[in-house]
Amino acid sequence: MSEEPPQPETEATCVCTQDKVLEFLNKMSAESGIADLTDPGLAEFLSESDALKVIRDKFHYPKAGSFPDVDASLVDPESDGIYLCGNSLGLMPKATERIMTEQLDKWSKLGVFGHLSGDIPWAHADELAVTEVGHLVGAKPEEIAVCNGLTINIHVLLSAFYKPTETRHKILLESKAFPSDHYAIESQIRLKGRNVEESMVCLEPRESEETLRTEDIIDYIEKHGDEIAVVFFSGIQYYTGQLFDIKNITEAGHRKGCLVGWDLAHAYCNVPLHLHWWDVDFACWCSYKYGCTGAGGIAGLFVHERFKNDKRDRMLGWWSHKMSSRFVMNNELDLDEGAAGYRISNPPIHLIVPLLGSLEVYRSVRLDDLRSRSCYLTGYLEYLVNTFFGVGSDKLATKITISIITPSDFHQRGCQLSLKFSVPIDLIYKELVKRGVAVDKRYPNVIRVAPVHLYNNYVDIRRFIQALIDSCLAVENNV
Ligand SMILES: *Cc1c(COP(=O)(O)O)cnc(C)c1O
Repeated sequence: MSEEPPQPETEATCVCTQDKVLEFLNKMSAESGIADLTDPGLAEFLSESDALKVIRDKFHYPKAGSFPDVDASLVDPESDGIYLCGNSLGLMPKATERIMTEQLDKWSKLGVFGHLSGDIPWAHADELAVTEVGHLVGAKPEEIAVCNGLTINIHVLLSAFYKPTETRHKILLESKAFPSDHYAIESQIRLKGRNVEESMVCLEPRESEETLRTEDIIDYIEKHGDEIAVVFFSGIQYYTGQLFDIKNITEAGHRKGCLVGWDLAHAYCNVPLHLHWWDVDFACWCSYKYGCTGAGGIAGLFVHERFKNDKRDRMLGWWSHKMSSRFVMNNELDLDEGAAGYRISNPPIHLIVPLLGSLEVYRSVRLDDLRSRSCYLTGYLEYLVNTFFGVGSDKLATKITISIITPSDFHQRGCQLSLKFSVPIDLIYKELVKRGVAVDKRYPNVIRVAPVHLYNNYVDIRRFIQALIDSCLAVENNV
């Protein structure tokens, strides 16, 4: 039996507030003698004074000039790019390059002998990661497997955990779930011989609201839970950036006898998680967003230890078989325990390497400390957006206004803020790109901005705001 993961110290994942952020900015303003909180000089001072600023050096941080369509008359190509898109694809840790070169070298010299030799025996490479990945999501090592892609893991888990009956056959999700999750759920319902119209329930926010209220989700489960087989939500909503109350929604599902699973694509490595203590049944995530493992990086899955030996039917392969007798090859399955028994194929070493590179970074800093840093970074971004673009502000920089659709409550968000513009964003986005900004657009009028706690700083945020002001002015003056 392995040790239990540490229990969460507080109910909430975050104790920060916008007042605390303002208090901090005012304190730093007094210390630096820079009175105006929006002064770019203050951003420099904040970045310099930041105890975690060194983590940025563990990454290859791109220069503005290396991005496509950058206009050298608007931004110095030698300056750092304004990369606020780590919610889509995280930057590359320097460690990854080193480990990858070592493993390619090993392959060239050892061929098949590499499976069982060296610091990273390929056949066991995934097992080297499960303890630390477990720390990042608050789980025991035997509750974790790293394998496949995220959507595949949704299929793997629903194949095992969605067992509809005549009376309990529904899957509850949100109406704006990520398309891949939506399709995976639709297909799982059909594969189990049921129809989507009857068995798929998509919860919508109240009219004229952008995000779902926790109380409405819980209320729905309380009223209709008897028909729900599985509640499956995202931990952080990819579009709005809303962080759901994983603990209480899981509890509500359990009170009604539902299984509760989570897609943690945007939550993994973004906010501290306590999957074991929150009693989550199963969960999965991709690792290339805040986990920084590169496009299509290896995904993860969590299965609570209460299912450790239940041998439920699932999708199987030779890697579901216990290591001790896997190579006897007599076709009599001896199912591995816990999450390991949900693996199918042998681990892809070229995808495990970037995970090990990422874990090397996450070993050097506590996720709780990153979370706290993240709150101040997003709080600063929120302050600047509201000051220069908020309806009713007396410092409006342009005629274009912005409302932030991400909840203002820090308990309900991570690194990302989703900005909704009063005009279509096409032209503004193009102007941003010319100025070396990498952010993510969702038509017609939302831009998602994610200062990542690992490698972004206050200067990136202040430079983004300047680029945004300049872009909006350029668009206004051309129309
Ligand atoms: C990023 C993301 C995905 C991507 O799925 P892949 O299988 O990795 O291509 C799926 N679901 C959600 C909620 C995401 O945020």
